[in-house]
Amino acid sequence: MDTLARADALTAYAAETAGCVRCPLSETRTRVVFGSGGPDAELMLVGEGPGFHEDQGGLPFAGEAGALIERLLAGIGLGRDDVYLANVLKCRPPQNRDPLESEIASCEPHLFRQVELVRPRVVATLGNFATKLLSGRPHGITRVHGQELEVSLGTTSVVLFPLYHPAAALYTPSMLRALEEDFARLPGLLGRDPTPIALEVSAPRVADLVPEPVAESVAEPVAVPVGSTQLGLF
Ligand code: URA
Repeated sequence: MDTLARADALTAYAAETAGCVRCPLSETRTRVVFGSGGPDAELMLVGEGPGFHEDQGGLPFAGEAGALIERLLAGIGLGRDDVYLANVLKCRPPQNRDPLESEIASCEPHLFRQVELVRPRVVATLGNFATKLLSGRPHGITRVHGQELEVSLGTTSVVLFPLYHPAAALYTPSMLRALEEDFARLPGLLGRDPTPIALEVSAPRVADLVPEPVAESVAEPVAVPVGSTQLGLF
C-alpha cells in the first residue's frame, strides 16, 4: 500500500471508530481519540489512553506529556508528524482511572488495525499498559524499559521498545533521565541519523527538575479531581 492509500485507509478506519460502542467508555467520552501522525511512520508511540485534553480535542498527547514527547523527538531529529501516536484505549476512562482489562480487550482490535495499516518498524510502548499488551508479557516497565524485543503484531513484525511513560517521567527525574537515555537509542533501532532539530517551545529536561522522592503515582498536570485514581504508568 502506498502512502496515500494508507492515509485513506486510516482516515476511513478513524471515521468508523468515531462511533465505537464496543465498551461502556463510549457513554462517558467526549470524543474517540483515534491517533495521529504519519500514515507510513517508521516509529509508532503507544500510550495508555486519552486524558482530559485529548478527550476534548480528539488528538493524542495534547498536554504536558505530549510536549515532552515533542522535545524528545526533536532530540533525535523527528517531529510529531514523522511518527504515529496512538493509545491502548481510544476513549478516556472517567477521572483518568486505570484502563480495565475488559476495556483493553474491547479496544485492542483498533490498535492492531492501526499497526497493520501504518506498518511501523519500531513500536515504542509508553508505560505498563501498552508494554504488557503488546509484548504479551507480564513484566512491568521498570524492569523492561530500554530492552527491545521482536514481536509480531497481527501480520506485522516490529521491534517493540518499552519506554517509561512521559507523564510519569515528568514527575520523577530518574525516570526522565532513563527515558532520555532510552530515547537516544531509537535512531539506532530505526537505522537512521540522530540529527537533532530545534524546537520553539521546550519541555522540562532532567536538569530543570528539582530532584524529588519517587512518586507512587503520577497525574498528567491537567484538571484531575482530587481523590481520583490515576493511570498505572509504572
Ligand atoms: N495522553 C495520551 O494521549 N495518552 C497517554 O497515555 C497520556 C496522555
